Amino acid sequence: MSARARPRPAPRADVALMEGYHSPQVDVDVRLNVNESPIPPPPAFLVAVAAAVAEVDWHRYPDRAALGLRERIASLHDVDVGQVFVANGSNEVLQTLSLAYGGPGRSAAVFEPTYALHSHIARITGTAVAEGERAADFSVDMGEVRRVLDEATPALTYLCSPNNPTGMVETSETVGQVLDLVPGLLVVDEAYGQFAPWSALELIDEDTPLVVTRTFSKTWSMAAARLGYLVGPTWVVDELEKVVLPYHLDSMKQVAGTVALDFVADMEARVSHLVEERGRLETGLRELPCDVWPSGANFVLFRPTTRDGADIWHELLDRSILIRDCSSWPRLEGCLRVTIGTTDEDDRLLTALRELLA
Ligand code: PMP
Repeated sequence: MSARARPRPAPRADVALMEGYHSPQVDVDVRLNVNESPIPPPPAFLVAVAAAVAEVDWHRYPDRAALGLRERIASLHDVDVGQVFVANGSNEVLQTLSLAYGGPGRSAAVFEPTYALHSHIARITGTAVAEGERAADFSVDMGEVRRVLDEATPALTYLCSPNNPTGMVETSETVGQVLDLVPGLLVVDEAYGQFAPWSALELIDEDTPLVVTRTFSKTWSMAAARLGYLVGPTWVVDELEKVVLPYHLDSMKQVAGTVALDFVADMEARVSHLVEERGRLETGLRELPCDVWPSGANFVLFRPTTRDGADIWHELLDRSILIRDCSSWPRLEGCLRVTIGTTDEDDRLLTALRELLA
């Protein structure tokens, strides 16, 4: 008997029109496309995590408050445990912020070009996006900030420092000026914060409508675990706890994050190494016919000036090197973004680019 074709229920009208997140995952030798750490965690971390996971009560729900992990993050940043919120990657932190502070009738301000998920998550949660433009050098233009905030009165204003995909670090003056202007909450996304010379974490206090988001995916070499967090006033954390799903953070991840915090010195050594390697890669790119933007992150944005960026991206892929093709993104015509890899990986990229741009 053939099944009767039933009508397919439509999703929310705005969801039907949306495009999903797109970043190709292909099997290549040199993977420099999503700003992961090129180095796995230290072997002692893997041993300690295995031992800690063996102690997990698998038949019980996790600690809903993730108290042990939050206490360790709080002491890392010298804040109160009530000022820390943890979730499955900083993307889930951003989504939880949008669920609590965004939604129908509210808006989120972003300054493009910036991390695409800020506006994507806003739209998913039914939050309008108030879009501003960065200046020609991709710095935040205070006149434009005033215009957007005056017009939209956003509930959420996003800055990203260092900014993905440009690599630019916002100055403390810029963050302070935006903070003085925002009518709602200022979110400073510091997914790459450890690579930058300063952090907005120093501005956090109970009387300031500012939150900083961070991740274990990059510097902590833990992208596989999906763990991120926010530091902000307790009254924000309390609202986030209301909207996030109960037991959202599994026990394995809670112990993995807690164990990771025993390895701060290893993490800092990796950051220093990657910063040095970033300098070497930037120098190599500047010797080629490329525009190169100075980066405070673990990636570099560049634009080949003698060849089409998208063609170069394909020809690198033919050589089993995957980087990020930003060439069709607004304001980034012809641009490519490369994650800092190991010395070998970066050498392979530079050698290939020397051939392709010769
Ligand atoms: N913020 C920025 C600026 C990012 O680039 C990324 C990762 N691409 C994230 C947040 C999300 O990181 P995760 O969800 O892995 O913590």
